Order: sequence, then C-alpha cells, then structure tokens
Amino acid sequence: MSIKENLTKIKSSLPKHVSLVAVSKTKPISDLMEAYDIGQRIFGENKIQEMAGKFTEMPKDIQWHMIGHVQRNKVKYMAEFVNLIHGVDSFKLLNEINKQAKKHNRIIDCLLQIKIAEEDSKFGMSKEEATSLLQSEEFLALENTNIVGLMGMATFTEDMTQVEKEFNYLKSTFKDLKTLNSKLITISMGMSGDFNLAIDCGSTMIRVGSSIFGARNYNN
Ligand SMILES: *Cc1c(COP(=O)(O)O)cnc(C)c1O
Repeated sequence: MSIKENLTKIKSSLPKHVSLVAVSKTKPISDLMEAYDIGQRIFGENKIQEMAGKFTEMPKDIQWHMIGHVQRNKVKYMAEFVNLIHGVDSFKLLNEINKQAKKHNRIIDCLLQIKIAEEDSKFGMSKEEATSLLQSEEFLALENTNIVGLMGMATFTEDMTQVEKEFNYLKSTFKDLKTLNSKLITISMGMSGDFNLAIDCGSTMIRVGSSIFGARNYNN
C-alpha cells in the first residue's frame, strides 16, 4: 500500500480525541510530502539536525515534534520552530529548553517522559521524580516552557499483556500528576505495533512511523 493509503486507513480508524504524529525519521522529504498532501500536519523526528533540515525545506504550517532523546547542547537548533518535545526527562534539560525558548520569545510545550518499560535501555523519569519536578519552585519559575502531558515507551515485546500493564501505569501516573498540575492534557503512547491497545488504555497522541511510511532502512 502507498503512504497515502496507509495514512488514510489509520486516520479513519482514530477516535476524535486522538492525534496522530507521523514519525518520519530517516525518510526523504518526498515521502513526508505525500502525507502532507492529504492533510497530515504533525510530523515526528528523533534527530534534531534532521528535523531542522526538513523544517527549512518544507511548508511552514507543519508542526514538528521531537520524539527522541534530547541532548542539551542541541536544543538551540530546534528552539525557533519545534512545537512539542516529547522526551523531557530532567529539570536540567527543561531549563535549557526554557532558556533557548526565551531567546526566540517563545513558549515551548513539552511532555515529561516517564519510564514505563521494564528494560533498562529506555529513558525516562520515575513517577516520584516527575512529581517532585512538578512541585519544585525552580520548575514553577520557568516562563518559557509548558509541561502539557506525559510520554512513555513500552517494552519492545510481543507480549501484549506486558505492554498493556505499562500503558495502564502511564495512564494512572497521568491521573495522579494531573491533580498537581491541571495543564496536563496529553498522553503520548502507542506506536505502529501497539497504538490500538494504547488508545484503549487512554492514549491521546500516537506516534506512528513504519505503518505509514514502511520499514526504515538505517543503512542509507
Ligand atoms: C521511531 C519511533 C516511533 C515510531 O515507531 P514505529 O514502530 O515505526 O511506528 C515512535 N516513538 C518513538 C519515540 C520513536 O523513536
């Protein structure tokens, strides 16, 4: 199936409250434009330089989401245009985003990444760390960033019972943190292999790459 067919099929199956981030990492601009041409406006990338290059070349009504791990020294390359940063996992990073946003006179929306997977390799904060960040004086003093929700990545496994448990944990963490901060509205969870389950568990934003654009080839 073509990119247009894949995207149309996924979009028509989504409930209204769920937004779709088309994950276009490693894919050429011509592929992104196929999605753009049928109305897709949110694209997700995991490398800042790649996203900045695509931002420069593509129409300006696109919303760019940084979904990957962010190194502090690279925030400056996306501060001018990024719409949502999914992977904020420390106050230090948030503080740098705030500083760079201020230079551009912007307020940048961010999600706190919560570690929900059992594997050690995944980034993210514990629920306790996120709780104390949201209550800290230094966080409340930041004027150029908004925490608008949470993001999580489940364990890479075929075991959907395990994945469901992790999604449910993110949802319950969201509920608890929302009592501390009413600005939390977004739960970013679910990818190509598990987005239907994620939606059933309360996701409001799914990040889908290979089911739209096909498998990625990292050798290019
Ligand atoms: C690559 C990536 C996705 C999309 O993965 P697919 O399985 O291709 O849908 C989603 N979220 C993050 C954080 C990613 O890095």
